Amino acid sequence: MSKRTLVIGWDGAPYDKISKWVQEGKLKNLGKLVDKGAFGPLETTKLTISSCAWTTMVTGKNAGKHGIYDFFGTKFVGNSYFREPINSKWRRAKALWNYLSNYGYRVGTVNIPITYPAERVNGFMVGGMMSPSVDAPGFTYPANLLKDYPKLKEYRIDIEGAKHLDRDKFIYEVNKTIEERFDLFRYLIIKKDIDLFFGVFTSSDRFSHYMWHFFDQNHPYRKHESEEDLKKYKNSLLELYQKLDEYLGELISEFGPDNVMVVSDHGFASIYKYFEFNKWLYLKGYLKFKPKSEWKEFKHGKLNPKRTYIYGKVDWSETQAYMIGKRGSVYINLEGREPHGVVKKEEYEDLVEELIKEIKKIKDPETGEYIVQDALPRDEIFSGPYLNEAPDILTFFKDKYASIGYIVDLNSEDLFIVNDRPDLELELGIERYAGIFVASGLDYRHTNVNAWIGDVTPTILHTYGIPRDPDMDGKVLDIFAEDFVFKERKAELSKKEKSIIAKLKKLGKI
Ligand SMILES: [Zn+2]
Repeated sequence: MSKRTLVIGWDGAPYDKISKWVQEGKLKNLGKLVDKGAFGPLETTKLTISSCAWTTMVTGKNAGKHGIYDFFGTKFVGNSYFREPINSKWRRAKALWNYLSNYGYRVGTVNIPITYPAERVNGFMVGGMMSPSVDAPGFTYPANLLKDYPKLKEYRIDIEGAKHLDRDKFIYEVNKTIEERFDLFRYLIIKKDIDLFFGVFTSSDRFSHYMWHFFDQNHPYRKHESEEDLKKYKNSLLELYQKLDEYLGELISEFGPDNVMVVSDHGFASIYKYFEFNKWLYLKGYLKFKPKSEWKEFKHGKLNPKRTYIYGKVDWSETQAYMIGKRGSVYINLEGREPHGVVKKEEYEDLVEELIKEIKKIKDPETGEYIVQDALPRDEIFSGPYLNEAPDILTFFKDKYASIGYIVDLNSEDLFIVNDRPDLELELGIERYAGIFVASGLDYRHTNVNAWIGDVTPTILHTYGIPRDPDMDGKVLDIFAEDFVFKERKAELSKKEKSIIAKLKKLGKI
């Protein structure tokens, strides 16, 4: 008899808030799991971006071994410095579903970030964020998986585009997406016979990015809200998680799993001030802008047309370093790698070292305090065959600070933007701190646990008798029940492997 496991992801569920609500009895179904199972904070990836974090969760490996650092990879669009968005093919490490399939288990996943195009698995897969549309080839595996699903046409893949709608519409979209996700999860777990189901709700993350000021009394953006709205939305995050908790209860009763896990990829925190990173590089002489009369517009569907990005505006022949992405990721304008790289290989290490020293010295003039917790070269964070695809330097900002790379105003000397600017459409909360880890059921005991995000996959595989891949950075968590016995299962051989063995037998070699 095979075991059934239900894994539910709540993108961006913060440990500090969730654990408080569990204690207060406000999340009933999660509370029941916590009462019997293992519960604790889930430490996320150093580069706290959903794509990197979820991929580390499903592979058990740091990004140096799976190659997904961000929502873009290392390919540039033409000669611009804009990097092409990635898809599941960029992941170069086996994921949970590959292991389970290889060992003959049936697995189904829905909406795990960076799973488009869907992969061939022993079971099914529905793509997550960045899937182009529900009709796109590769949205599901098998291709006809949802041909009879009555609500496919209205299914929302993501609400990225809805974040700048007015608030009521935005919240409507968030709720609608959660309902649709739940409906599809339920449809598939009822219809399909599987050993493990893994579905992720991502709207909790989107919601948090733009609503976080309602949950922090000191957030500068609150000045734009009426007393009425501050009151109205004060508990909206709890209400969202209560809805997810209700759906969790329903999914458990529909699926009847032996084991249940609830996981999130990271927590959340406020941003009070943004640091204009590329402007700082410019003022320090590491980056040179062309005269304004020579600026060219660069357009791409992934870019917000209201913003002034650096693409088409930088004099690359005079630029040594630049920042892209959301998280203070600095890239060296390296010869032979960047489209117009000028920094020689032999200058690389000295430049990285010098920049790190300078980055650590950045202060907020208003408080006189340093704003950078740490800045590290990539090889101190990641390891593996794809290390060379990582940003060259990672900057870790102190609490309440984050960076932006696009241009706001080059004429002023000011490097900080207080996060109270509706015109800039900035995120009010950011991915930071611990997510949650809950494992409850037949195989787990009641315990507190401190998990790292890469521990999830080896721990799940352990319940199925699949040994941890020695190349994984994550470990099997010490949360198993006293009477649990690890019975190693043999991997199922592929057709090709079987035919090779048959041939060898025939030849008398084995
Ligand atoms: Zn996330």
